[in-house]
Amino acid sequence: MDHHAPDNSRRRFIKLTAIGLAAAPFANALLNGTARAADMVSESDPQVSALGYVADATKSDKRTDATAACHNCGLYTGKEGEESGPCAIFQGKLVAANGWCTAWVKKAG
Ligand code: SF4
Repeated sequence: MDHHAPDNSRRRFIKLTAIGLAAAPFANALLNGTARAADMVSESDPQVSALGYVADATKSDKRTDATAACHNCGLYTGKEGEESGPCAIFQGKLVAANGWCTAWVKKAG
């Protein structure tokens, strides 16, 4: 009999559990982004309003570039021509193609 066996497997179990817990939020974000139809971000969400997001870019008083909008932002991964799409900042949610926020960066290319 190996006296260390129960100890080792318990340690391994604890380790796996810790990894599972740490990975859970990422798994959720992935599921939200793919398996389920994602919700639109809400302008009233504190995280969203902190970045000055508006679903209608023309309504923002912070926007300095009149051509800037989610659809031409480097963090936007929505398909061209669609009304909304995912944004790297607001994981698991959709932003309006014509929206805008202060994290806007010019899309490369
Ligand atoms: S980071 Fe870009 S795509 Fe995301 S909400 Fe802001 S402007 Fe839109």
